[in-house]
Amino acid sequence: MSDYEIIDPRFRTMVLPNASLEKLADGFRWLEGPVWFADLQCLLFSDIPGDRILRWTATGGVSVFRQPSQFANGHTRDREGRLIGCLHGGRSIVRTELDGTFTTLVDHYRGKRLNSPNDVVVKSDGTIWFSDPPYGIQTDYEGGRRESELPANLYRLDPLDGSLDVVAGDIVGPNGLCFSPDEKRLYVVDTGLQFDPESKRCIRVFDVADDGKTLRNAREFHTVTPGNADGVRCDEDGNVWSSAGDGVHCIAPDGTLLGKIKLPCTVSNLTFGDRHYSRLFLCASQALYAIWVNRRGAARP
Ligand code: MG
Repeated sequence: MSDYEIIDPRFRTMVLPNASLEKLADGFRWLEGPVWFADLQCLLFSDIPGDRILRWTATGGVSVFRQPSQFANGHTRDREGRLIGCLHGGRSIVRTELDGTFTTLVDHYRGKRLNSPNDVVVKSDGTIWFSDPPYGIQTDYEGGRRESELPANLYRLDPLDGSLDVVAGDIVGPNGLCFSPDEKRLYVVDTGLQFDPESKRCIRVFDVADDGKTLRNAREFHTVTPGNADGVRCDEDGNVWSSAGDGVHCIAPDGTLLGKIKLPCTVSNLTFGDRHYSRLFLCASQALYAIWVNRRGAARP
């Protein structure tokens, strides 16, 4: 049996007593950006300091998908199944077309360069929402030191007309994000200032306005401890599964911590995949782990 911590009785129905934590691969530098391709039965994920995107399959293990990757970080797919990625090196959001060619969707806002896009989701209307903290341009390890030209914003990009709007400009370090299953809420992780341990880190939640384009009613949702949240994903019931310093934490829509899946290292990001999107893939520091749970992912990119 895996190392679960049941904090709220509701969590008992969400995990599987006979499912164990599986280490799928090890020996990377820092993993991030997992996305499941159901049609190809594979997981893509980033090794940011390794400057590569890797692919895992159940039959073939891990292979290199793209190297160099321009220090790719977060990933998702759009409504046509195309890979959408955040590049620290390119300071851009890019799309890999179905024929394998590469399209830069955006790298500037009002004439200034983006910082280092970190994580990305696609809404059901096809718009691309992404965070742009400066973490990838503050060290040579995750991309390369460069001057920041813009504040750390959360953006909404409409790929049809190219319009780019700031949807939240008051998050210190916008990072992972996910919509609730009904897309009436957007969860955004604030990881604060990179080199300031006192900087506040928490998951924030916004209501999506009726126009579907703007956010309102910003509030604090939950503070993960130990460590902090980075990547987050909602399940089909709207529970938020968050990365944490000791594994994965599951948080109810009202902000109550339901339980934990304990790992021996920090988890940076996670995604649902495999059969019925009921297996969690965990980018956990230098290793890739997975565990089957009894909930299905809400977003099935
Ligand atoms: Mg992140």
